[in-house]
Amino acid sequence: MPIYEFECGECGMRFEELAAAGAAVACPSCGAERSRRLFSAVSPPGRQPRGAGVRSDESRRREREAARQDRMAESRKRRAAGEKP
Ligand SMILES: [Zn+2]
Repeated sequence: MPIYEFECGECGMRFEELAAAGAAVACPSCGAERSRRLFSAVSPPGRQPRGAGVRSDESRRREREAARQDRMAESRKRRAAGEKP
């Protein structure tokens, strides 16, 4: 099953959920089943975020990216240290 992005019709919360096409998905924030499936599952870069739910999604994404950069820097450092005579 594909992961779709939904927007709650009650509170505006955005969330991603595994769902069959046409299935009603309850909002994880308020429990309303008035969520609507957004057109694309993954937000393209540069799309204007709107709503608090989107902003928290954005910060989560930025945290993941920062963690990835950290891991890369760490492995680079380790490699550099190992190659020293
Ligand atoms: Zn909601």
